[in-house]
Amino acid sequence: MTERTLVLVKPDGVERKLIGEVLARIERKGLDLVAIELRTVDRELAAQHYAEHDGKPFFESLLEFITSGPVLAAVAEGPRAIAAWRQVAGGTDPVEKAAPGSIRGDFGLEVQYNLVHGSDSPESAAREIKLWFPNL
Ligand code: ADP
Ligand code: MG
Repeated sequence: MTERTLVLVKPDGVERKLIGEVLARIERKGLDLVAIELRTVDRELAAQHYAEHDGKPFFESLLEFITSGPVLAAVAEGPRAIAAWRQVAGGTDPVEKAAPGSIRGDFGLEVQYNLVHGSDSPESAAREIKLWFPNL
């Protein structure tokens, strides 16, 4: 079953020049990139993207982080793309959850600065892709 998922390289990943590394891993996994764009995120888009975390202790600092510099946004497509990209990205906490060999496991150290984003369900993917790529 072909799915689409949202891919973000967060400002820390762009700053550390990991865009090529991330895209190479997505391509190596076999997913197709169907949209790709570098952009600066305003607070409104950030708050909508992370609406599920509104009210959590890290929400404000998460918005500040995600709006702090350019972000690479992309859409990847393929069989089980949502789970496949989450596997390539690794668990949320780069040390406690992300396996070695995943992007977060290989390059991350702190939970907030975990380099990449991936949609977590078909519903999230549909919502996020519409938010970031309304014309797709
Ligand atoms: P994921 O990105 O793996 O789907 P979540 O949706 O739970 O993870 O959280 C969204 C983002 O918020 C994380 O990727 C991370 O950047 C940040 N975050 C999550 N939990 C924490 C935390 N306890 N402290 C600081 N930042 C956090
Ligand atoms: Mg999430």
